[in-house]
Amino acid sequence: MEDLFGHRISYLRVSVTDRCNERCRYCMPEEEQDWIAKDETLTYDEIVRVVRVGTTLGIKRIRVTGGEPLTRPGIAEFCGELTQIPGIEGVGISTNGTLLAKMDQGRTMAEKLAQAGVRTANISLDSLDRAVYQRTTSRDLLPRVLEGIDAAIDAGFDSIRLNCVLMKNQTERELPALVEYAAKKNALLRFIELMPVSTQEVLSEENFLPVAIAKRLVEQTTGPLIEEPDFKTNGPALYHRVSATGQRIGFIGAMTNLHFCESCNKLRLTSDGKLRPCLGSYLEFDLRAVLRAGCSDAELADFFRSVVARKPKEHDFRHNYQPNRRMIAIGG
Ligand code: SAM
Ligand code: SF4
Repeated sequence: MEDLFGHRISYLRVSVTDRCNERCRYCMPEEEQDWIAKDETLTYDEIVRVVRVGTTLGIKRIRVTGGEPLTRPGIAEFCGELTQIPGIEGVGISTNGTLLAKMDQGRTMAEKLAQAGVRTANISLDSLDRAVYQRTTSRDLLPRVLEGIDAAIDAGFDSIRLNCVLMKNQTERELPALVEYAAKKNALLRFIELMPVSTQEVLSEENFLPVAIAKRLVEQTTGPLIEEPDFKTNGPALYHRVSATGQRIGFIGAMTNLHFCESCNKLRLTSDGKLRPCLGSYLEFDLRAVLRAGCSDAELADFFRSVVARKPKEHDFRHNYQPNRRMIAIGG
């Protein structure tokens, strides 16, 4: 599938839930949410069908996300079903890491996911300081996350990525420890610019730390970072290598990198079955209604194509973005 601007769509990000056991400042405010009702949430069977049809149109890679995907029962078994779909070349998971070390039927959740064929684990880690972690996520769960990262390493994923959202007057102090920890754990560290997908008060100039500044601050501890334009994961991160050690570090500059959307290959499926052509656009299309009206696979494929045809050239975050949903309800 190719859109009007030449984006080749091969990647579907699937949110399985809008629930989460943390309350990150930039994602999900502490107060009560309008939760998506259970019967409005796509069943695993419905998602598997959507992915199956997606593969006939060129979808090759899936990332399972949320909310916190590990809070949904049966997640490892579901991921196992996705990895078995012909045409799917890679399934990854995005998680806050708090439940990766949890035992389930004699195995950690990380082991269950890896054994189900999930190849990459993206784990959020904003700080290694327990108090800062607690302030950011509103939960005192850093020790469990660190156990979760170790469980993921033991489980043998192909790649573990640690994602840190940049917050001004906070992340600056965290950078050296995060860089050292990622190197020690042989994990790929990525820094993500704050995006306007949450409450307005968090998304102010006071909290925004551009990737360019983060990069300069990292260089104060690592020495020069050498850009690696040819190294790609599936997303828009720009990678650099620490020249002294070879450690690779990624920067995701959704707000300041003006070329950010050029290589976009993504669609998103929300947990209530809306297909979204872009995280940073209010456009979304009700796939669940089509599915539950009893559509054929051919009709579902037409629906996919029509959504791809509406994919914008680039996100609206810098201009007239009207958030109609928070990150938690879209799937990050
Ligand atoms: N709960 C999982 C986690 O935290 O990794 C998966 C879902 S979360 C929405 C996916 C990613 O989105 C995380 O790396 C999180 O840090 C990031 N994220 C959430 N809100 C954001 C925001 N306002 N700006 C930038 N990234 C954000
Ligand atoms: Fe939960 Fe992830 Fe959002 Fe934090 S970023 S509130 S862990 S969904």
